[in-house]
Amino acid sequence: MKSVCPGCNFGCGLYLQPKDEEMIALDYRRGILEVDFKKGSEVNEGKLCKFGVELPEYYANKAVSKVDGSEVEFEKAVEEAGKRLAGKDAVFLSFGDSTCEELIALSKLADGKIESGLGALSDIDETAYMCMAVGIPYEDIEKANSIVLINVDPYAQYPLILRRILRAKENGCKVAYVGWRKPRNLADKVILLSPSTWIKTLAELENELSEFLGEGCVVISDLHPHVHPAQVKTALNLGKGNVLFLKPFANLTGLMLLKSSVSDDRTLDNLISEIEEGNVKALFVHEADLIEVMPDSERVKEALQKLEVLVVQTSRASPITEMAHVVIAPEQLWEKKGVVVNNEGRILEVGGERTDGFEALCKVAEALGKEKIEFDDAHKQVLEKVGVDVVNEYTVPAYERKEYPAQSIEAQESDIETALVKVYTPFTWRDMEGQYICLSINTIASKGIMKGNLVTVGANGNEGRYPFRPDDVADDVVLTFGRIDIAKENITPLEKIENTIWTEEKEE
Ligand code: SF4
Repeated sequence: MKSVCPGCNFGCGLYLQPKDEEMIALDYRRGILEVDFKKGSEVNEGKLCKFGVELPEYYANKAVSKVDGSEVEFEKAVEEAGKRLAGKDAVFLSFGDSTCEELIALSKLADGKIESGLGALSDIDETAYMCMAVGIPYEDIEKANSIVLINVDPYAQYPLILRRILRAKENGCKVAYVGWRKPRNLADKVILLSPSTWIKTLAELENELSEFLGEGCVVISDLHPHVHPAQVKTALNLGKGNVLFLKPFANLTGLMLLKSSVSDDRTLDNLISEIEEGNVKALFVHEADLIEVMPDSERVKEALQKLEVLVVQTSRASPITEMAHVVIAPEQLWEKKGVVVNNEGRILEVGGERTDGFEALCKVAEALGKEKIEFDDAHKQVLEKVGVDVVNEYTVPAYERKEYPAQSIEAQESDIETALVKVYTPFTWRDMEGQYICLSINTIASKGIMKGNLVTVGANGNEGRYPFRPDDVADDVVLTFGRIDIAKENITPLEKIENTIWTEEKEE
């Protein structure tokens, strides 16, 4: 059956085929599905990144419906969620990892107040909202005169964009890259960021990159709950509307389109603080896991324990489903009926037939005395919002983007000497990335780090030992794509980097 990869908002098309029982028995860990490539997909022309290829393993990890830790029927969990949320002033959180129709049902339940975690963008001029929500078509990248990549590592984060950039280069396009790790043979100009000056570097890029900017320039960056506003503002300023924000959740573009603004949203850090202070007592998390998404998982776990009600509706088992008072486990994304909207605004049928998740949200809404919506009406609303009559995966609808003023960026500097920098891939967001660090050759040499050994890194009075690999990062950067427990933020100042013989690790 036709499907859309849930790994990020690129919207790659693929086919999923249920395996026969013999195949499942041979290797259950690989799940009950097989992936096949969809060459006719306009988005990815049949190619998939590693996450897409490994999709059966991702889908093998199914959630089960629970109440207070005990497995229950799906309907019972839905009923219990309604009872427990009654009379509570709950916060509803979603990063858009579901269909647009389900997000509309969630919006009804939340009285229109779905929080996306994008609060850091709330001071960006509202006229730029559509440019943040929906990027330029991927096809336009191939026609660009120049491309500026701001903090997007195509090799690690969004490999499918690489093909488009390489085609543009074949047409004579020049590429500038600004980020934490030098991309192999991709850019004509590279500006590596340093933890102490990175915001200042972004603020002053217009002069540095003057030869790349202007007519036919496309700026590519990314956008997610941890993005720094300076990064988004820089991309908007340099791109002047010709911008593509790549997003890591399957339908974050759809969520942003349906919301129309993030001005009232909190940052995830603020949300956790509000829970810690007792100002938020009930939380409904939709197809997301705050524990996996936040760098400091212990802090999140402690905060979640303070909630009077934690309801999680998700099809995937993850740490938050172990803590929730109620888990509603509907069908997985590939089984859902409905559409998602990808980074470029293309509207895509997910390919399934089921609406259990949608109906669950409607039932909880009804239990709370809120308006119910029919699936077909929700679907109509999506089409109206996008401005099309029918879903056509082969065209990108025309979106109206307004001109926006230049966004001011304070050219901050800090006194950080060396920092652990976290870069998110489709695996990182789901805590499925290996724990290793990337160091520059100079750091490896100056610290006497030997091949085959581990590296001890220390921060905030804690230490951890990790395998390493040499990489093209600045000498004051230790890069990670995975969860490193000592990291409490996305840029964590380091107090220690030391060579450690692996046998020392064994003895502990
Ligand atoms: S680029 Fe994104 S949508 Fe495409 S296969 Fe990879 S994770 Fe999936």
